[in-house]
Amino acid sequence: MKEILTGIADLVFPPRCITCDDLLERHGALPFCPSCLDGIRTIRSPLCPRCGVPFPVTEGEDHLCGDCITGQRPYAVARSVGRYEETLLTAIHRFKYRGRTGIGKILGGIMADFAGTIWDMQVFERIVPVPLHRKKLRDRGFNQAVILARELAKRFEIPLDFMSLRREVFTPPQVGLHRKERSENVRGVFAVRYPEQIAGRRILLVDDVYTTGSTLEECSRILIRAKAESVAVLTLARAVRDQDIPPESVPTLPEGSAAGDG
Ligand SMILES: [Zn+2]
Ligand SMILES: [Zn+2]
Repeated sequence: MKEILTGIADLVFPPRCITCDDLLERHGALPFCPSCLDGIRTIRSPLCPRCGVPFPVTEGEDHLCGDCITGQRPYAVARSVGRYEETLLTAIHRFKYRGRTGIGKILGGIMADFAGTIWDMQVFERIVPVPLHRKKLRDRGFNQAVILARELAKRFEIPLDFMSLRREVFTPPQVGLHRKERSENVRGVFAVRYPEQIAGRRILLVDDVYTTGSTLEECSRILIRAKAESVAVLTLARAVRDQDIPPESVPTLPEGSAAGDG
């Protein structure tokens, strides 16, 4: 029966690669054609067990990175599925700037697959997406982080909370700003509207991209200040080298949307 339904669905919507739209020969585990699949580099050990940054070497054990040894992280752990380049970058841009929310649901499913393999998801009591300012929400029409987070919430039956954490201040796009400027740019931008929803709870904070981490760190700090028991961070993609951040991640689209909120 399921095969028949899949067959009918294929006639109406033949399966296509979500990044290049090529027809897919058959249903694989992931909705990418072989060449786009080749363009995904997943993030794996050796990496920093705290912030999740992978090391350039391919062999060896996980160990804290320099930034996590010398500085503090407000979150307990951060992980990303793959690098913010090629296929994942294209998929995210199609989702976020072209309004292809169906792609977002698929990407959220990929995040759920990944999260289920690295964590016991039942430890999380709330899933909180990084909020957009209402002006940006109005322009874009949706918050990409909410769409991703909703897939995780559905899969693991964890309540989704997109109301408690708010972005109160509109900030200019982060693209082109360096690490220090980015962290100054987001200071004081977020607030917890309903602290009773956050206090004492283990939170999974979700966004599409971990860029410098300044937004995710600031959100984590605000959640911890509202007495969250702990915050873990999950993103689909991660900009690993500084070159990954600007300017090649800036989409050239007419509506003037800006990339790199994270
Ligand atoms: Zn493709
Ligand atoms: Zn680290």
